[in-house]
Amino acid sequence: MTGYFSSPFARRKSVGVDVGGVMVGGTAPVVIQSMTNTDTADVDATVAQVAALARSGSEIVRITVDRDESAAAVPRIHERLSRLGVHVPLVGDFHYIGHKLLAEHPACAEALAKYRINPGNVGFKDKKDKQFAAIVETAIRYGKPVRIGVNWGSLDQELLTMLMDENQARGFPMTAQEVTREAIVQSALLSADAAEEIGLERDRIILSAKVSGVQDLIAVYTALAARSDHALHLGLTEAGMGSKGIVASSAAMGILLQQGIGDTIRVSLTPEPGGDRTREVQVAQELLQTMGFRQFVPIVAACPGCGRTTSTVFQELAQSIQEDIRKNMPVWREKYPSVEVLKVAVMGCIVNGPGESKHADIGISLPGTGEMPTAPVFIDGRKAATLRGPTIAADFEKMVADYIERRFGQGQAKAAE
Ligand code: SF4
Repeated sequence: MTGYFSSPFARRKSVGVDVGGVMVGGTAPVVIQSMTNTDTADVDATVAQVAALARSGSEIVRITVDRDESAAAVPRIHERLSRLGVHVPLVGDFHYIGHKLLAEHPACAEALAKYRINPGNVGFKDKKDKQFAAIVETAIRYGKPVRIGVNWGSLDQELLTMLMDENQARGFPMTAQEVTREAIVQSALLSADAAEEIGLERDRIILSAKVSGVQDLIAVYTALAARSDHALHLGLTEAGMGSKGIVASSAAMGILLQQGIGDTIRVSLTPEPGGDRTREVQVAQELLQTMGFRQFVPIVAACPGCGRTTSTVFQELAQSIQEDIRKNMPVWREKYPSVEVLKVAVMGCIVNGPGESKHADIGISLPGTGEMPTAPVFIDGRKAATLRGPTIAADFEKMVADYIERRFGQGQAKAAE
């Protein structure tokens, strides 16, 4: 008999970094983060979005700090969030003038839990090193970590040109794609070395190297993971909209996470106009949970449906339960400790319905076309009831609520006394 080799590799050993009380890397679980798309100078809108992202499960939230008005707003945003009881670490995203903004807005430098800088646009020519050093020195002074975030859309062109020239001189040159990948990796590693030389400790540095192609991302992070022990922030940049963005991010990050690579993730989805920014947090949670790395919300297993069930009852029931769970989770987390391990099944007919329902904590097998209009409900692997009539969906939802109360609520505590 052959063995099964589908378990994830051991997590790559990285140096843990404390980001405003949230550990990234080391022995910490993979952390979820997200980014606002509000104008940071608009304090009301930014506070509302950061709070929504944090409440949906984002453990770190990044905000753009692009000009004086944004930098001036940061301490006010921080204070307003604290008053709301939202204590999520805020990361400032700096480009071009980060050194100046941090120097001129000390309250901003203090309020942020981490600074993100991009070595490709921290400054140009002779100003580059000086401005990079100024940001790192500010981080040292305020005791803040820094993410050195390379992005191939703004890759250090001097470094790329130098590597391209060196490559040309070789007898067996690498492809342009390989040289670009190497430039991305080197940009991150050289910048980390420079930051350490200035005096920033290794446990204050997180690296990222974002690209928009799945194979490029896997190649770049595999190299980065092999050549350093810095904590790594994973993310596919410009992942795109809707299912394309979700699939590309999940494919790329799923493969890396399976190899033990990645200490924090962000799923960069382009929201649909008016769409909900918290979707990226939900996708990140689902990625980590479906891979078995962390548990955030109860899982609802539902069959895809087929010609054996022409009714939409089971689709509606699965959707209603899923939405109910998402909506209630902020309260349930407090009220029902460990409720996130719950598994619910909603199945469309007798073929796989009873079997799958028995594997769940609570499951229902709805009647398919031509079947008796009854729906057996299974709890902890055993048939517990048979529902009938037009109230099947409502009755099952009530049974799920009762099960949660019984197993995770105070009733459970009393039973254990
Ligand atoms: S459980 Fe029944 S309805 Fe659902 S996919 Fe399987 S055969 Fe089709």
